[in-house]
Amino acid sequence: MVETADIVVVGGGCIGASIALHLAQNHAGKIVLLEQKELANGASGKGIGIIRTHYTHPALAELAYLSQQRFHNFKELYGGYDSGFHPCGYFVLVGESDVATLKSVVQMHQSMNIKVDLIDLPQVQARVPHLNLDDVAAVAYEPHSGYGSPPQTTLAFAQRAADLGVEVLTQTPVKDIELDAAGKIHGVVTTKGAIATRTVVDCVGPWARKFTQNLGLEFPVNPVVEHVVVVERPVEFSQNHPVVSDLVNLCYSRSDPQQPYTRIGNSDPKYHPQFMLPDADDFHGQIYPQITEELHLKLIQRYPILEKGKVVEKYSGIWGVTPDYQPIIDRLEHIPGLYCAVGFSGHGYKLSPIIGEVMSQFILGDRTSIDKLNLFRFRRFQENDLVVSPVSYGQAKGLR
Ligand SMILES: Cc1cc2nc3c(=O)[nH]c(=O)nc-3n(C[C@H](O)[C@H](O)[C@H](O)COP(=O)(O)OP(=O)(O)OC[C@H]3O[C@@H](n4cnc5c(N)ncnc54)[C@H](O)[C@@H]3O)c2cc1C
Repeated sequence: MVETADIVVVGGGCIGASIALHLAQNHAGKIVLLEQKELANGASGKGIGIIRTHYTHPALAELAYLSQQRFHNFKELYGGYDSGFHPCGYFVLVGESDVATLKSVVQMHQSMNIKVDLIDLPQVQARVPHLNLDDVAAVAYEPHSGYGSPPQTTLAFAQRAADLGVEVLTQTPVKDIELDAAGKIHGVVTTKGAIATRTVVDCVGPWARKFTQNLGLEFPVNPVVEHVVVVERPVEFSQNHPVVSDLVNLCYSRSDPQQPYTRIGNSDPKYHPQFMLPDADDFHGQIYPQITEELHLKLIQRYPILEKGKVVEKYSGIWGVTPDYQPIIDRLEHIPGLYCAVGFSGHGYKLSPIIGEVMSQFILGDRTSIDKLNLFRFRRFQENDLVVSPVSYGQAKGLR
């Protein structure tokens, strides 16, 4: 194992792998990426992988838009590796009470050159005849959005990073961050030995609270269990369908690329306190049957034909959730040399290419990226200045 590095990135999810790769692309010196288990061991191993730009906050919409462009050009940008991206299109469905918000978000996105339109219900029905639109009042459509594979994308980032000279070490948990007498980063201690470095990037996702606790630095990131139900579509509904964000029933769904499967996940924030774990290490793939049954029913409500479908899988992952559902991306002033990009809640996969790019510029001292990331600063929680969108959906709130 290396004994010194210019920059050590901790956490081999899509965020850590993307940051390590972009640092290497920017010739940032000797970079090491350390993962406690295997790559994509955390949220990135289980994500549904929706890539969309529909955010009520313009800064998030912009980041999502820039990221989406990078998913479209993934192979050209990242050494020919494939992210598993399928730009199959994306619908946002809302009920009567959210129509005004949907319209204002679409208008805002169009002013930012994002390709999105309000689309008539008959057009939606023609595109997906099996979709039940009885309780839907308006729909927005993003033709360039879709879904990708978070584990495949994470591996692609890490492989490209390794090609460019990054030392990628799995099964190497970081046990401690060492400081010098002046309180500056001096190195990391792993189970396989120590690495001297002046710069550490904390990308440990749902493990964030625990990771820096012994430095007296407590991240407000809660590990939350997130469920997915997979249903096999009957032969009458064998064709793939676009991604659907269902803001009436607070769930999201997409089809699979190879098999006639549809996966559904929860976007009802009322469940998050119930599914919160004290520690990310308490996650062992546990499932709360109440929510998987509810998700299955929501899927049938939206696609009545799926009553004939078979449930082929139920599983869960964890994500790291902050009080405003937005990430913490910063340089920690009181521990010189420590950077963080954690707490991505349900947004981390789609944002991973642009976060890698902007974060690497930030670490290398680029002023424009500092301004871009100020919204996500660590101190916003102490300052009581959480990220708040100019408009918000009735129930989905910060998740959009
Ligand atoms: C079911 C589900 C559905 C989702 N759907 C979507 C979606 O549709 N679209 C979207 O954009 N996002 C989605 N997300 C969220 C997205 O997956 C996450 O935001 C993203 O994967 C976060 O990536 P990360 O790299 O920050 O964290 P993680 O992927 O959790 O990676 C953190 C890594 O750090 C490692 N680590 C922890 N401690 C240490 C240590 N001490 N030393 C070394 N390594 C350590 C962990 O093992 C882990 O591999 C979903 C998540 C889930 C669970």
